[in-house]
Amino acid sequence: MALKIIDSCISCGACEAACPVNAISQGENYYQIDPDKCVECVGHFDSPQCADVCPTESCVK
Ligand code: SF4
Ligand code: SF4
Repeated sequence: MALKIIDSCISCGACEAACPVNAISQGENYYQIDPDKCVECVGHFDSPQCADVCPTESCVK
């Protein structure tokens, strides 16, 4: 499973810096999560870091 970023993303970049596995990159219109890389932060943090840092609640399950 992986989180995804929805179109309320304002491309602030905070999630990209917070991801422990570099699964997040700038997409065509807003940021995106590579579902093959996202581990939902399991083994790294107690909660998904992208969702924790996102100011617009755009990282969702
Ligand atoms: S849940 Fe964790 S591993 Fe997945 S994209 Fe967000 S920060 Fe990266
Ligand atoms: S932290 Fe939220 S608003 Fe900022 S780039 Fe990531 S998904 Fe977009």
